[in-house]
Amino acid sequence: MKAALIVCDGMADRPIRRLGGKTPLEAASTPNLDEAARRGATGIVDILAPGIPPGSDVAHLALFGYDALKVYRGRGALEALGADMEVKPGDVAFRGNFATLNDGLVVDRRAGRIDSASARRLAEALQNIKLEKHPDVEVLLRHTTEHRLAVVFRGPRLSPHVSDTDPGKAGLPLAEAKPLTVAASKTAEVVNEFTRLALKILGEHPLNEERKRRGLLEANGVILRGGGVLPEVEPLTARFNVKAAFIAVTSLIRGVCKLAGMKPIKVEGATGTTKTNVKAKAESLVKALETYDFCFLHVKGADNASHDQNLEEKMAMIERIDGMVGYLLDRLNLEETYLAITADHATPISVGNHTGDPVPLLILGPEVLADGVEAFSERACMRGGLGRLRGKDVIHLLMNYLGRLKKFGA
Ligand code: ZN
Ligand code: ZN
Repeated sequence: MKAALIVCDGMADRPIRRLGGKTPLEAASTPNLDEAARRGATGIVDILAPGIPPGSDVAHLALFGYDALKVYRGRGALEALGADMEVKPGDVAFRGNFATLNDGLVVDRRAGRIDSASARRLAEALQNIKLEKHPDVEVLLRHTTEHRLAVVFRGPRLSPHVSDTDPGKAGLPLAEAKPLTVAASKTAEVVNEFTRLALKILGEHPLNEERKRRGLLEANGVILRGGGVLPEVEPLTARFNVKAAFIAVTSLIRGVCKLAGMKPIKVEGATGTTKTNVKAKAESLVKALETYDFCFLHVKGADNASHDQNLEEKMAMIERIDGMVGYLLDRLNLEETYLAITADHATPISVGNHTGDPVPLLILGPEVLADGVEAFSERACMRGGLGRLRGKDVIHLLMNYLGRLKKFGA
């Protein structure tokens, strides 16, 4: 028996007046998701706890069976792990952005969404930064996509408890990293020294001269956020004795998957945006299940559209996900495969950010008792046989069907 878990990032929503009170999932044309719901069991899931809005990293920790509120140690180290950097115990990592600064003000937090090739050249220039005041701390850095990078500080007595230098909004001054505990004062100094050196190196970089000449925003600074260390968790591969793989592009999600011990599967054309090649992802999933017991597949697009509060794009993305599910219903051997589909949180169009609403869940497979629910939506799944679950229960439902859970008691 095999199992697949598909998480559609930010797909759940709220009733929208423009849609006559329907949610985007209800209003979009989703014959395949509805067919899957008809053949399976459904329910709704509080990813962390009722009403608590999760970040995507925390949400995925929960969906992989961890007590996310306890084990989470910040986003930075997961981001770095997802960027294929080595993260060791004691390392403190941050998510970074190339940004445009002018006179100490952050003018654009994404340096005009700088292209990946240019950002990679700038990241190279920062590769061998030596901190003069803290020569015992090594700076490791990797560019991921567009303006994004991951930064790891390695050395004795570092702490993740420092404030962000990213002010979070354009037009505000570059923030100074401040220690949030006494033990974090060295790390705050390290972060501030790195920030000063990066400003100097990037400010003098020929690529920025060229961007200025072409009327583009300079990428003359690095802003950091989400300081973190690696959580200590038992990989789910060991916990459930399964061979597990994942299909995901977003670094943060890749980091959580790697932490959980899953093996990455690369898919050409998967982009982590609304333009992603969902069919290629589905093909890879079918293939991966020939080798692995469990495969996780992440689709990001609906969350991007929701943050942009773009209803049409969200519905179009949901319909593309539906096409992917249709392909899977045709190609997966459902005599020996369990398939679960859910979201990691709601990102309502009206809010443009994650909320704590429950998300719909469906599971189908050879021995799943169909519950008579005929559609996959926030509302229809409320009446499902799985009832109302917590995020960390979902993996147990699958592993139970796979016979991977030990009996509790005699
Ligand atoms: Zn998410
Ligand atoms: Zn989001």
